[in-house]
Amino acid sequence: MDENVNEMISDLKSYLGYLKEMGISFLPASENNSEKAIPSGIRTLAGVRKELGDCERCKLHRTRRTIVFGEGNKEASLMLIGEAPGYDEDVQGRPFVGKAGQLLTKILQSINLPREEVYITNIVKCRPPQNRNPQPDEIQSCNPFLVKQITVVQPKIICALGSFSAQTLLKTDTKITALRGKVFDLEGIKVIPTYHPAFLLRNPERKREVWEDMKKIAELIQPIK
Ligand code: URA
Repeated sequence: MDENVNEMISDLKSYLGYLKEMGISFLPASENNSEKAIPSGIRTLAGVRKELGDCERCKLHRTRRTIVFGEGNKEASLMLIGEAPGYDEDVQGRPFVGKAGQLLTKILQSINLPREEVYITNIVKCRPPQNRNPQPDEIQSCNPFLVKQITVVQPKIICALGSFSAQTLLKTDTKITALRGKVFDLEGIKVIPTYHPAFLLRNPERKREVWEDMKKIAELIQPIK
């Protein structure tokens, strides 16, 4: 072994011996360790937004008015992920601001969670024409940015709103009716699928099930908060 390396090891050993003598038996990890694990461009939501830029990665850019990136508490314990912006969101550049969004805000209020306390985004960031379903290539183009948003926010719980969100996050074809009511694990994050608020507007009799899901979220979030 190189002499210099041997010398360094011996120096380090005597330094650690000295620390032990002083009663220091462990060394804290560097404060910057977690930052080092995340590439610089995705350490902040602003960094992720910057990387997304004036996105033209999929065909939705031709018809969208605004990129609806997401909004809310950047350190939220709860992240809500919908499907795609609709007309109002496309106009205002904010997620869930139309009728479905108003219902979502009320649903959050029902468990005493102000909207500003959570982080809200969508599987795709641009409105599909005539609010059609997002297509697989569009979901795929947008997915790296969603993953980066999740990496930055590090929520404890993700509430997947509707089948597109739940199926994309959980990489499954299983119907939302079979997914909801269960808690999934996504690399340490609890994923709770529930019905989309737009579905609830058309099927108000399903609100009770969403209430059950919200109660579960409230229960799980309590020890975290
Ligand atoms: N529906 C969604 O899935 N997302 C929105 O932002 C608005 C409506």
